[in-house]
Amino acid sequence: MRTGGHDSRHTGHEGVTSLVILQPTPFCNINCSYCYLPQRSDRTTLTIDQLQRVFEKLVTFPTISKRTTVVWHAGEPLVLGAQYYDAAFARIRECCPPDLQIDHAFQTNGMLVDDEWCDLFRRWKVGVGVSIDGPKHINDAYRKTRSGKGTFDKTVAGIQRLKQNNIPFYVISVLTRAALEDPDGLFALYHELGIRDVGFNIEEQEGIHTATTVDSDLPPRSVQDFLRRFNELMREHDFHIVVREIEETMASIRHFDKRGPVNNLVIPFGIITIDVRGDVYTFSPEIAGYSSKDFETFAIGNIFADSFAEIETSKVLKAMTAQIASGVELCRTSCKYFSVCGGGAPSNKVFENGTFASTSTTHCELTKKRVTDYLLETIEAMA
Ligand code: SF4
Repeated sequence: MRTGGHDSRHTGHEGVTSLVILQPTPFCNINCSYCYLPQRSDRTTLTIDQLQRVFEKLVTFPTISKRTTVVWHAGEPLVLGAQYYDAAFARIRECCPPDLQIDHAFQTNGMLVDDEWCDLFRRWKVGVGVSIDGPKHINDAYRKTRSGKGTFDKTVAGIQRLKQNNIPFYVISVLTRAALEDPDGLFALYHELGIRDVGFNIEEQEGIHTATTVDSDLPPRSVQDFLRRFNELMREHDFHIVVREIEETMASIRHFDKRGPVNNLVIPFGIITIDVRGDVYTFSPEIAGYSSKDFETFAIGNIFADSFAEIETSKVLKAMTAQIASGVELCRTSCKYFSVCGGGAPSNKVFENGTFASTSTTHCELTKKRVTDYLLETIEAMA
């Protein structure tokens, strides 16, 4: 998951966390071949009483911003049913202070969306992100059911249901090599479905997904060529799509600051992730449940067992903070893209390079460097 920046970098603890990733269950109804979640068959679920305990503890964290988004993720959140979230959201509202605004959001494969879900999304103003990777043959090559069938038709049916109910949503598409080679196919799908807001996640080497189709032997200009063609199609069809990677990189270029943009992924408590056992993580959400040669666990504490003071002073947090900071410093001194990147994603560094104290990854090469090159070339051509 990629997250946007916010502007509280220099404010110490006060209001650092505006994003909480909460795993109500690791279970997922499908079995994508690039998925990094090892426990996606585990049906353990946080009860409503446990959720109350999670939020009663969370509000004691001095880092929690007065406006915080909770993304229910890391498994398929909709498998728990709309009634679960009606009860959960009501309990959370009861137990949190009235001046804390919590916005709920789901990242879903969309296959279970029906009118009952749309009613819940509307009543609770839930942000909805749907994962679909492009045309049927590209989507279904990786996004498969547990019996190996494609998921495209059901996801499209879910998207149609959202549209019939006027529920705003955005789409996240994982760009595999096949997707990168077919910007026309991806654009045609978004155009046909009326999708105006897209995030592209380049397929990553992450956790148990160790082999990606998007690796170092990718043709050097494939990302730029993809974006250029995508942009041409938008103009030809007079159909504008907000592409998150373009918007974020453009914002960093416009507000150039040699210290780099705010990068929540490298700030302690910038993002908090809580898994179904109550284990607490910070920095990249993708590190939840993993380890490295230097860290037996990346968990910095447990929301049920530990106070904020214990979590904040945990040895794991101290050591991770130091290693991540040294990786950012290496980026700052060695990479000409630092001013638009801010030091990258710790998860990609540790999964690709074995340590947070490192710099370039295939992921940053494709999502930061080549996107920046594309934008600078485009700006130059317009001058
Ligand atoms: S683009 Fe890569 S190497 Fe450069 S600052 Fe970002 S993470 Fe570091």
